[in-house]
Amino acid sequence: MLKEHLLTPGPTQIPLRVLQAMSQPQIHHRTKDFEKIFRATLDGFKWLVESDNDPVFLACTGTGAMEAALLNSCDPGDKVIVINAGKFGERWSKIAARLGLKTVEITAAAGESPTLEQIEKAVRANADAKALCVQYCETSTAVMHPVPTIGAALQKTAPDMLYIVDAVSALGTLSISMKKDHIDILVAGSQKGLMLPPGLAMLTLSERAWQRAEKVKSRSFYFDLLSERKAHRQDTTAWTPAISIILGLHESLQLFREEGLENVFARHRTVAKAVRSAMEALGLTLLGASFPSPGVTAAFVPAGMDADKLRSALLAASGVRIAGGQDELQGKIIRVGHMGYVDTTEIIGALGALELGLKLCGHVVTLGSGVAAALEVIGHKK
Ligand code: PLP
Repeated sequence: MLKEHLLTPGPTQIPLRVLQAMSQPQIHHRTKDFEKIFRATLDGFKWLVESDNDPVFLACTGTGAMEAALLNSCDPGDKVIVINAGKFGERWSKIAARLGLKTVEITAAAGESPTLEQIEKAVRANADAKALCVQYCETSTAVMHPVPTIGAALQKTAPDMLYIVDAVSALGTLSISMKKDHIDILVAGSQKGLMLPPGLAMLTLSERAWQRAEKVKSRSFYFDLLSERKAHRQDTTAWTPAISIILGLHESLQLFREEGLENVFARHRTVAKAVRSAMEALGLTLLGASFPSPGVTAAFVPAGMDADKLRSALLAASGVRIAGGQDELQGKIIRVGHMGYVDTTEIIGALGALELGLKLCGHVVTLGSGVAAALEVIGHKK
């Protein structure tokens, strides 16, 4: 028997209670029963992201929500500033281009986040831009951009510019406050820290983002957030919702409440730190070490080793499934996802398996050294 341990930065593991909530016979969405759960789930999500406004739930993935964010905040020809420090930052630019927007990119090398000065300079030079788009966690490089700091700076430098934050791989791993972080549009997806299957996306808009949505020319039938807002106000959706995943989200929000959000975030911080310590103890160089994310850790494999071969060896020998790099990072890095339903015990096992995998691939490892470093962190909750 080989038990699979899914430790990718999405999709992620789903707790049994969430699976059970999703596995009941299908209920119809045009019923009071569904509307009651839908309302409770909208309220739960408001609590999670600290917003007074209802979110909008769409039956699509995170990319759809990114597109919906731009469609409902910008007209063709409008300018947007994009922080592009990896695959998902690049996605903002690709979507913007497809929608006929002008894009100004603030770039950073893989594993880096642009400086605040760089961002402020770009914002000042492009004061006519309608929005600044960023990832909270750039999943491709495991970098966490300083969203609250950027939000505060933007508020001062360009108070009319909307702040659009892709929190697909951040939500549920750290504290996010629409209000305190000055976020205007928050984009999220189900298959990461929310511990659900893919297929449900969420957007929360600030008051002024809704005002903008009311003004822009409607260009999409499905991604018209105003029609969804109208339906959500009646505790329902404009079109058929992802009913089962909404039932699952209702349950995962309940799990968050029971654990306590601060404990959820502390668990992520501890696990992330344990993984970083272990990788360093094993002689791996971390990618994005200066901007560590609580939900995913990336590291270069030793010179001469193929990261994808290491991943295959790890999966075959221990059932641990981790992710690799994309584009120029392919074959060079491994990414361990530790967002959502992951605990310290599971991560210790996975790190032990990684040590064996490295050894199998020819790296000189003192077995137990990575695990020992992780245990030091976990034992002391450093
Ligand atoms: N944004 C970030 C930061 C992500 O990590 C992902 C998925 O990995 C997405 C957007 C896109 O989500 P999806 O693949 O669900 O469309």
